[in-house]
Amino acid sequence: MPISVVTFDLDNTLWDVEPALLRAEQAQRDWLLEHRPGSIDHHDHESLWEFKKRIWKQHPELAHHISQMRIRMLEALQREAGYDEEAALTGAREAFSAFLIERHKVQLYEEALEVLQQLAGRYRLGALTNGNADIYKTDAGEYFDFAFLAEEVGASKPAPDMFQAALQATGVAPEAIAHVGDSAEHDVAGARALGMRTVWVNLRQQAWPGGPPADAEIHNLRELPEALRGLDRSA
Ligand SMILES: [Mg+2]
Repeated sequence: MPISVVTFDLDNTLWDVEPALLRAEQAQRDWLLEHRPGSIDHHDHESLWEFKKRIWKQHPELAHHISQMRIRMLEALQREAGYDEEAALTGAREAFSAFLIERHKVQLYEEALEVLQQLAGRYRLGALTNGNADIYKTDAGEYFDFAFLAEEVGASKPAPDMFQAALQATGVAPEAIAHVGDSAEHDVAGARALGMRTVWVNLRQQAWPGGPPADAEIHNLRELPEALRGLDRSA
């Protein structure tokens, strides 16, 4: 059965997530410094990380809802600084909005748009992300037929839920889907477990961490169209 659908991981597969995350954290901090003085001023990167971990432990039910978790953390920062519940809640939403605006300003890898455009003429394309980026807010949005976020589905990759959502959305058999991603565990092992075909995006030319390897491995997105054709030939 030929591949008819290609699903993509987003962060570190179609773009480098670090610069956007750093800018987003800064925007969130700037908002709090200006509108909720005293809430974040005394925190540096380290202590904020410790604070986040404390909130994560208190809310295991939000493990796959990273936006909700961040809002809780922002709320708690303000409550600890003495702001009342309402101010903390509105402040958390506003600071999170400031975060999200920058989080969505991702810079696609140079070759990504061209490759996606090429693939969109041949396959249906989908996005499956554990992060909170919205593919439709990027320049690549027009090439995608569907997108699922872990926090909407309620479970992160490698759990089967996101892949099942893609199967349901497309109505094709698992082997007609190729999933493309940078994580050996979340993407390759996760998709394989459902019988999908897999492409490992290994941009940094790392050694395979172990376990059954992906069906194909690429070092640049430009290699993807040919890798997908190769999977069909070898099937
Ligand atoms: Mg990734």
